[in-house]
Amino acid sequence: MKPRILIVEDEPGIADTLQYALRTDGFEPAWVATGEEAVAQVQASAPEDRPALVILDVGLPDTNGFEVFKRIRALADVPVVFLTARSDEIDRVVGLELGADDYVAKPFSPRELVARVRTVLRRATKPAAAPAAAAGSPLPIAVDDGRRQIRFYGQLLELSRYEYGLLKTLVSRPGHVFSRDTLLERVWDDATESLDRTVDAHVKTLRAKMKLVAPTLEPIKTHRGTGYALAEDLPAGKPES
Ligand code: CA
Repeated sequence: MKPRILIVEDEPGIADTLQYALRTDGFEPAWVATGEEAVAQVQASAPEDRPALVILDVGLPDTNGFEVFKRIRALADVPVVFLTARSDEIDRVVGLELGADDYVAKPFSPRELVARVRTVLRRATKPAAAPAAAAGSPLPIAVDDGRRQIRFYGQLLELSRYEYGLLKTLVSRPGHVFSRDTLLERVWDDATESLDRTVDAHVKTLRAKMKLVAPTLEPIKTHRGTGYALAEDLPAGKPES
C-alpha cells in the first residue's frame, strides 16, 4: 500500500508540484488548502486511513501552521514536516519547541522534500532497538521504546523525535561522551543534511524540558569540543527545588 501524504498548502502551484513529485516517488498524495480542512481530515479518518505524514505550510489563510500542528498532534501521532517561507518561522521550527519532525524552507526542490519525507517515515516506522537502559539501572530516566516515551523522575517528557533519540542515546551509556558526529549519525538518518549546531539546538530544548521537571539538576553535561554525556550522578529521588 502506498503511504498517504497529506499536503496542507494554500498555493496551488506548490501543491501541484509536490503532488507530482510524491506520486512519482510512489506516495499517494492528498491536498487541502486550509488548516481547518487538514484538522478535519485527520479527525475524520479511522486510524488506518490517517495520513502517514503531513506536509504543513506555516502560512495558511485561516489558522497558522503551528496552531494546525498542535491540533493535529492532539488527535494523532502523525509525523509532520513544515514548509516555511520566512526566517522567523524557521527559527521557531528549528527550536522545535513544537516537536515537529523536520522542516523545509521555501523555495525548496521537490526532490529534497520527498527525500525528507522518506527519511522521516523511515524513522517513524523503525523497529524498536534494544532496550536502552539496562535492567536494574538506578537512573531516574525510563525509556519506553515501544511507546517512544521517556519519563524523568516518573514524569513524562514531551519530546520531539530528535530529542527523544538524543536522550535515548545518551541514556544508553551514562557518562559516555558522545560526539556530535556520533549523535548526528545515530539520531538523524540523513546526517549529511544536518549540522553540528542542529545537535546543539536540540540538546538545548531537551535540557529546558528536563529542567521543568528537576530545575536544580544538570542531567546532560557538555564536554567542550567533544560532545555530550549523561550525568552519572543523578540522584535516585527527585531533589527538592
Ligand atoms: Ca502559504
